Amino acid sequence: MTAPLPPGSTIGILGGGQLGRMTALAAANLGYRCHIYDPKADGPASQVAAAVTVAEWDDASALAAFAGSVDVVTYEFENVPVETVERLARDVPVRPGPLALQVAQHRVEEKRFARHCGLETAPFWGVTTLDELAEGIAVVGVPAILKTCRFGYDGLGQVAVGMDTSLREAWQDIATDDAILERRIDFDFEISVIVARGLDGATRTFPPALNEHRGGILRRSLAPAPIDPAILAAACAAAETLAGKLDLVGLLAVEMFVKDDGQLLVNEMAPRPHNSGHWTQDGCATSQFEQFVRAVVGLPLGPVDALFETEMLNLIDDDADAWPALMADPSAKLHLYGKAESRPGRKMGHVNRRRRPLMSDTPA
Ligand code: ADP
Ligand code: MG
Repeated sequence: MTAPLPPGSTIGILGGGQLGRMTALAAANLGYRCHIYDPKADGPASQVAAAVTVAEWDDASALAAFAGSVDVVTYEFENVPVETVERLARDVPVRPGPLALQVAQHRVEEKRFARHCGLETAPFWGVTTLDELAEGIAVVGVPAILKTCRFGYDGLGQVAVGMDTSLREAWQDIATDDAILERRIDFDFEISVIVARGLDGATRTFPPALNEHRGGILRRSLAPAPIDPAILAAACAAAETLAGKLDLVGLLAVEMFVKDDGQLLVNEMAPRPHNSGHWTQDGCATSQFEQFVRAVVGLPLGPVDALFETEMLNLIDDDADAWPALMADPSAKLHLYGKAESRPGRKMGHVNRRRRPLMSDTPA
């Protein structure tokens, strides 16, 4: 097995958002440096990193210089072009590798992959034309959701399709020829599971979180999810299967729906830290960001025991204006991302609240 990169090494991170910021902070705690590569200047991650490259994803000379200045590359954002990652992978280890990125970038690929792994998903149909949308309706039924296959996030790039929806209008609204039609699932709960997988193939899976969305955006997570332990065990096993089949080194976050009969449906996955794992910063023996760094540099993974039942609330747009009260609130652990401007739907920070202690901090 490859020796871990020693502290003092540099981790290159593609993407400069809040996930990169919190990863860079965790890396700094372990003595590593981070070099952020992002087309935008002064993002949340750049403010706390040792080095920053501001360049486009296809800038060959900037990529070559970046590859030469880092010891390993990872990404905090799954819409980095696969070609960028493949190019870097010729010169420097990229963890997770291009396969995880390619699968997670495309909703049809993602669902096919989950099914290939023996897991279930909502009924779906790939849609590239208006005729295929009509076919899809016949196959998956209504109510359904038409989604862009690429670049959708926070509920953006989705159109509801019901009995009375004009398919022509829905097709115009989605404004892409690479879409997926999914049956709208009547679920009891939404959960997510984050699994870390090391260079040696060892996995550690965080206790799943129960997630609540508002307007397509994650609003609140509660962890460990207070639902049937047998369902949670199945969800963890599903995430471990996916990470193994992707031969992933790093983190894989898997969003799932839980139906009233306990059936689990994989919704989507992300090969990176995930918003629903932010509770681990204040409620778990190891935070998802530290675990991500550990996996990517080849260190042993940390324990994943939940120390507190923890609630995470996202601060969206002007929610963050309440920072004076949140900073003064002894029950609130406030995390702000350093974004200069708030915009509707923009995640500005989050608050973790420990609700009750669960267990002692002993390694699993
Ligand atoms: P993204 O998070 O990338 O915007 P998602 O597919 O996770 O896209 O959709 C956002 C939210 O919309 C989900 O967390 C869920 O609440 C709801 N949703 C998405 N797909 C379905 C579906 N097939 N059935 C029911 N609800 C869905
Ligand atoms: Mg989602």
